Amino acid sequence: MLVSDVWHQRLASARQQRVEEQRWRHRRVMPPNTLDFAGNDYLGLAHDPRVQAAQAEGARRFGAGAGASHLVSGHLEIHEALEDALAQWTGRQRALLFSTGYMANLGVLQALADSHTALFQDRLNHASLLDGATLSGARSRRFHHRDGADLERLLARSSATHKLVVSDGVFSMDGDVADIATLAHVSQQHNAWLMIDDAHGLGVLGDNGSGCVEGFDSQAVPILVGTLGKALGTAGAFVAGDAVLIDHLTQFARSYVYTTAQPPSIAAATLEALTIVQREPEHRQRLQHHINYFRQQVQALELPLADSHTPIQPLLLGNESRTMAWAAKLSQRGIHVGAIRPPTVPMGAARLRITLSARHTPSDIDRLVEGLSACQREEARCPA
Ligand code: PMP
Repeated sequence: MLVSDVWHQRLASARQQRVEEQRWRHRRVMPPNTLDFAGNDYLGLAHDPRVQAAQAEGARRFGAGAGASHLVSGHLEIHEALEDALAQWTGRQRALLFSTGYMANLGVLQALADSHTALFQDRLNHASLLDGATLSGARSRRFHHRDGADLERLLARSSATHKLVVSDGVFSMDGDVADIATLAHVSQQHNAWLMIDDAHGLGVLGDNGSGCVEGFDSQAVPILVGTLGKALGTAGAFVAGDAVLIDHLTQFARSYVYTTAQPPSIAAATLEALTIVQREPEHRQRLQHHINYFRQQVQALELPLADSHTPIQPLLLGNESRTMAWAAKLSQRGIHVGAIRPPTVPMGAARLRITLSARHTPSDIDRLVEGLSACQREEARCPA
């Protein structure tokens, strides 16, 4: 038997299991002109000509790539400028760029926690936070979703010297928002540090768009993670906090140290996107308007819409095959929504993850609502 046969057997059995569980995920090239209600470009900045021009100009000035990691020779003046701007925007002493949000979360947890650290994570935290905990070797305790009393109970039982509470800001599959005031209060009461990953809130929530932690300083939320591939429309991520934290991450976060720095063109584009976020609240207002309009329309149809006031508007269909059928029907109409199934969400909690963007028009939303209404009518005609 060839070596590759041995491996192929193993991969084939994993594949078969996935297919049998009906969990095989298909990656498709998005057909042009698809109406996208699945992405995270909440403010439409990925397509803003000013951001695109800044990216092109950044590539011309600084190169298409950084050429090395930050600690070797890849840390350029545009990275430094972006870190300063992000620190200022979030009201933190310093910020540190990472190549992706996934890497930021792995890096922070691996650098801060070890087998003597107690981690406390919301049950619905993003996979990157759970993977970071595994990598760190720390023991994770999971508290009930958005439940400060359950967190308090777990913290009270812990005798660890170093405790770290970790939560998404906006929950990526539910669209609801962490109760930052309670998390901060309970963490302080129990001498725990608090880390918030506001990947989906930054740029969208708060008067200045600085996310669900707007108004909470470094004392309340000492570790803030933000990603740049969502509302800011580019790619990458950052961690913001005090100088001691950032210096530590610069030295010890392996996903920071051992990887090529973010392309400088992306840093240049992000700096432009950040300026737009700060100067032009109208994109956020337009998005909010879309959210209200969409909710009104869908509620009128009495569809099972989650209680979310962020651009993530899940439709809780429950059953996996129902969810896939609705997504397929919408796709036939040229509309793309996320069909989210276990293990990404708990069993019986399959859903359409619908996301709104300032880039949509009211008639785009009308088309989506009409598509949902057609799915509903068809289901009523021939129930599964
Ligand atoms: N945190 C959260 C809450 C996320 O939803 C995501 C991405 N979906 C990430 C982190 C990872 O960010 P990135 O895509 O930049 O790796």
